[in-house]
This record gives sequence, structure tokens and C-alpha cells, in this order.
Amino acid sequence: MTTHTGTATRSTQDWQRADAAHFLHPFTDFQSLARKGSRIITRAEGIHLHDSEGHRILDAMSGLWCVNVGYGRQELVDAATRQMQELPFYNAFFQTATPPAIELAELLAQVTPRQFQHVFFAGSGSEGNDTVVRMVRRYWDLLGQPERQVIISRNNAYHGSTMAGASLGGMRGMHVQGGLPIPGIVHIEQPYWHALGRSQSREAFGLQAAGWLEARILEIGADKVAAFIGEPVQGAGGVIVPPDSYWPEIQRICDKYGILLVSDEVICGFGRTGHWFGCERFGTRPDLMTFAKGVTSGYVPLGGVMVGERIAKVLIEQGGEFSHGYTYSGHPVACAVALANIRLIQREGLVERVHGDSGPYLAQCFEALADHPLVGETQSCGMMGAVLLVKDKAGGEAFPEALEVGMVCRGHCFGNGLIMRAVGDRMIIAPPLVMTRAQIDEMMALIRRCLDLTWADVRRNGWA
Ligand SMILES: *Cc1c(COP(=O)(O)O)cnc(C)c1O
Repeated sequence: MTTHTGTATRSTQDWQRADAAHFLHPFTDFQSLARKGSRIITRAEGIHLHDSEGHRILDAMSGLWCVNVGYGRQELVDAATRQMQELPFYNAFFQTATPPAIELAELLAQVTPRQFQHVFFAGSGSEGNDTVVRMVRRYWDLLGQPERQVIISRNNAYHGSTMAGASLGGMRGMHVQGGLPIPGIVHIEQPYWHALGRSQSREAFGLQAAGWLEARILEIGADKVAAFIGEPVQGAGGVIVPPDSYWPEIQRICDKYGILLVSDEVICGFGRTGHWFGCERFGTRPDLMTFAKGVTSGYVPLGGVMVGERIAKVLIEQGGEFSHGYTYSGHPVACAVALANIRLIQREGLVERVHGDSGPYLAQCFEALADHPLVGETQSCGMMGAVLLVKDKAGGEAFPEALEVGMVCRGHCFGNGLIMRAVGDRMIIAPPLVMTRAQIDEMMALIRRCLDLTWADVRRNGWA
């Protein structure tokens, strides 16, 4: 098939040739992709994508955890168009501001938890987390405790791909490329019950996992620890939903030692968990909150950090100049789209819908997958879900990593018009928040078909 763009009509092979010749994709084995050829996504509407071969694909990943209001929302297009015509860009460095940036700051202060009255804008989640590192250390400097430098994070966390983002993240494959983490960032083990705590109840394991934070603080010395950072639900790590006992205990420990709590809400923010922010679902009161992705539903890039009053007061009253910022901090077009997106979420009651209707329905559908012979664990939280594929259902034993059973399953998903992601053998989804029950049914039928096809492969190959 051929695809028309503003400038060209080209065949799939032609797109793939040019792609392989010039475009280095993120997190990609370039050579292996060039051999296969990229799938060319050409347009989308609602929860469906279309590729250059005419396939229609159900996008159960909301792009990359971001297209929360679905594709093709005219309000967002109009907001961008209007703003581009009126004022496509102006910066906020020179004692200047633009109406969309001010108005978005005001609206964010309304929809975020009460302790947040200020925002620092960035262009992405990674940049937001770079800002977090700068701001946390600046805060302790201003309080006369410059030795408080260490930020504690977790293994298998994802906090972005800049030097600071990848350092905060706990992905070993990222650390070995580029000499990371940067100094002053350490990691504790993640609250992943199925992998680390199956001999105990979920609640007991949650307390134990939080206890690892206290142990590390005592090991380092509380007077050297600046902050703890975590995603309410680990997203890219495999939609790992912690036990309910975990976060309240983390909050208690941070309070006990006066350590700042940073909630990375890049995925969990703006309704994904059925609450406006993940910290509200899990009962923490963070001092800083990173956001990106869902703030604009991915229509244009925007990220930032909500700054709690504890920190804002010090930065403002004792700070002098904070020597940090980005050309696009408060980009007027991005802010205009974010405003339209958040108002749309409010008008359509999407957070309430996920909380009271589609989230519980998705949970019920995921629990029902537990009867499948391949499935060792299912988890969900709001509009996020995970299915763990195991070799031995009764004992929970994993497949050998080299078999890449998750990738086999993902292949079936692609082949059957479903975007579902594999993190090892955890198959994960994070569909648009606008999904209806009928669309959840459509998605679940595809998921079950792909699990069946994967199970048939596993049997045929004698892997289980
Ligand atoms: C995606 C993500 C980031 C990084 O955001 P980018 O916009 O890709 O830089 C940071 N934290 C979390 C939790 C994420 O999921």
C-alpha cells in the first residue's frame, strides 16, 4: 500500500528503507530492526491505530502510556492551532510569562494535592526528574545541610533516559551504558511480591520492602540522605502494583528521618490509577511530583515538577536565583494543549469513570485471566494491567529467560491487531482512559486469543 503525507506518496518498503537509512530509534537494536523493517503507523482515531499496510490495531498502551483521552480529539488540535497562530513561542527566562503557562500553573495547583501550589515546567519526564535532582540538592544546600546529597531509588524503576533520569532509574541495562548512576544515587530492592515475597502475605511483604528503605537510610546515615523517589506503580518495570501496606510505611519512614518524598507520576498522574494522582491512591503526601505523558495526552511534549510548599517556601524566600531551566519551560503551545486536555478530563469525568466503572471492570476482566494455564499472576490498578506468563502455574516457576516467551506473545499481539507490551514475561497494558466497557471486552478477547496462541507454541515446543 502507499501512504500519502503532506509531501509524498510512498510505499511501506520505501518508508522502511528511508527509516533504516537515517532514523536511529530509541531503545532499539538498530541492525535487527533494519533487517525486519519498522511498522509504519500512519493515523489513528479513538483507541485504534492504522498502519501503512491498512491494518487496524487496538492500542492498549495509549501510545506510550500517554494518549489518555484517545486519538483525534479536536479540542486539543484547536487549542494548539489557536496558540500557534497567536503566539507560537515565548520563553519564561527574561522576567516574562505567557497566558497559557500561567493558566496551566494555576489549574495544576487546583487538580494536584493541596501541598502543591507551584510548578516548574520542563519538556519531558526525564527533564522533570533532572529538575528534581537539582531542586532537592538545592533545597538542602539552602537549609545549610549540603551533605544531604543521596537520593534513594529502587531497582527496576524507570525515571527517564537523561543522565539523571537513567541514574535514578534502576535498570541495569541502562546503567552499564554510559557509566551510570551519577554519584549520590543508590537503589534498594523493589516491592515486587511475586518475584521477592511469595513466602509471605502481600501485606507483610509490603512492610518488609518498605523496611529496606529504613535499613539503607541507617546504613548511609540519615544526615546524608536527601530524598526517596518512586513511581506509585512501577510502569515500564512491568506494571508492578505494590501491596497496600507499602507506601504508607514509606511515608512514615521519610517523615521519621525528615527525608523528602518524590512521587514520579509521569504514568500514574492525571487519572491513570482512578485518582487524579497515584499518591492519592496509595496514601502518600509527596514533597515533589514529576509529571509528563498524560498532562497533554501526548499530543505535544510537556513535563514538569509540582513543588510542595515545604520546598517552594525555601526556594522562594531564601533562594536567590535558582540556576536551572529549559528553553521550553512553559512552552505556550504545550501549555495550551495541556489546559485543553485537563479540562476535557474534567468535563468527561474520566478520573471518576476509571475509579468507579472502567477500572473495576478491567480489574474483574484481568482477575478472570487467572484461570489460563500460562498465567501465574494478574494485577491491575485503574487503567493499567499486567499478566505474568509462567512455566509452572502451580509453583509459579518462571520460563528460562532465553526462551523470550513474552516476545512470542507480543508477536501474536502484533499479528492479531493488538498493541500489548512485554516486559520480560510480564504482558502489560495501559489503555486510553476513554475506553468503554465494550472496548474493554474487545481488548480482552484479543488478549485471550494471544495467550491461547502463545500457550499452543509453548506446548508445541515442549517448554512446559
Ligand atoms: C516515561 C517515564 C519517564 C520519562 O519521561 P520522558 O518523557 O520519556 O522523558 C519518567 N518517569 C516515568 C515513571 C516514566 O514512565
